[in-house]
Amino acid sequence: MKKRRLNVKAVAVAVLGLLVVLGVVWTGFNLLFKEDKMPTQLQLPETITQEIGTGKFIYENKKNYIIAVHYPVTGLTEIDKNLKETIDLWTEEFKEEHAEFKANSSKEKMILGIHYEVFKVEDQYLSVVFKKATGTDLENLNYQIIKTITYDQKTGEQVGLDTIFHGKYLEKIAAFVRMEYRKSADGQEIATTPTFTTGTEATVENYQYYVLRNNQLIIYFQPNQLAEGSQWSEFKLDIEKLAFYLNESYLSNPVIEPSTTNVAGARYIDPDKPMVALTFDDGPANGITNRIIEALVNNDSAATFFVVGSRVSNNSSLIEQIITTGNEIGNHTYSHTSLTKMSDDEFFNEINGVINDVNAIITTDVNIIRPTYGNYNQHVKDLSPYPLILWSIDTEDWKYRDADRIYEHVMANVKDGDIILLHDLYESSAAAAERLIPALIEKGYQIVTVSELMEYKGIIMEPGGVYSSGR
Ligand code: ZN
Repeated sequence: MKKRRLNVKAVAVAVLGLLVVLGVVWTGFNLLFKEDKMPTQLQLPETITQEIGTGKFIYENKKNYIIAVHYPVTGLTEIDKNLKETIDLWTEEFKEEHAEFKANSSKEKMILGIHYEVFKVEDQYLSVVFKKATGTDLENLNYQIIKTITYDQKTGEQVGLDTIFHGKYLEKIAAFVRMEYRKSADGQEIATTPTFTTGTEATVENYQYYVLRNNQLIIYFQPNQLAEGSQWSEFKLDIEKLAFYLNESYLSNPVIEPSTTNVAGARYIDPDKPMVALTFDDGPANGITNRIIEALVNNDSAATFFVVGSRVSNNSSLIEQIITTGNEIGNHTYSHTSLTKMSDDEFFNEINGVINDVNAIITTDVNIIRPTYGNYNQHVKDLSPYPLILWSIDTEDWKYRDADRIYEHVMANVKDGDIILLHDLYESSAAAAERLIPALIEKGYQIVTVSELMEYKGIIMEPGGVYSSGR
């Protein structure tokens, strides 16, 4: 027994000694062939967004390749497992592809770099963007989005926009994108190109790269998607504007509840379906214009309000409402006098007075004119910097002040492309509009602004041109 115990001790000492020797050798080996520290070009930039968890990386500097893959660790088991699987798949693919990589020089290596960003919606959703760079030139690595994934934090499962929204949510998103580009100075030029039209069409493919964060949906557009030679770009959309399409409460801060009222401002317009433009002259008028706006908003529609300049500053909140709800303002002169009887100076004072007063309240284009009484002559046409808009259905609402009569007249005569004349000065006109808007929609018409009507009907309006319908 005694002898044995001594033997055990001796063995233990010998093993310990061997370990020490091995340790020293290992350290020495490491000092001699120390792996490079990760080059700064491959490190995760400090500017990335990480709203949850921490990060990990895989770094391998081998004979003919370098892998520097960063990925997030969220602390949510299922999600972390899925993220790691995704990363492993990419690194395996890369290794397989470049196992036989033939370098041009002894120093050249194939590089795989992956970066990420993480966004979250409280404890409801979590989105990850992965960006990848490959190449042999460390100085010129170009990180590009390769995948975005959104998870339900509770279930750990991946969710698509079609789980979060229902109905025509994609069309709505597309409409917002198109509207924003049309409105912006930089976007205007590309917004009418076929590339832009195809690239923003409401297809799953066009909107496949996105993340969700507190109260926003961020969409990433790929290079060449919006314009020839365009780079990656992002588009931010407030979830509030998509509340009508939400399947359940969006648990951001504050919570956004699914809404029964759709917001106007970027409606989906189908160019292949019938459409008409409702136009309201002589306003705005308190108690009337706002009733019409409400009816339009509740029906996801928009109209054109040809305002009289002298009424603008006294009704600034109505002017603001007209625009913020996606409607259009047209010019109905400053003092509601006939354009044909004006001198050139008077003409420009009348027209510019409206534009200036409206823009003192809210920035918007006022670039169509409705001549007072529909009166114009060659001189007015020559002088006008803007198109002149008449109508194809005259409700004579100012004469009869009868909602039933207005309603019947429009419903009996309406055709695709009509421009319908009303006045937002009378209770009866507001009442008629409240009935007409849903009834026209029921009949298959989309209710659009004059500019939208012309755009979707492919009519290019010229300065001084006269237009009375979209036909
Ligand atoms: Zn008028």
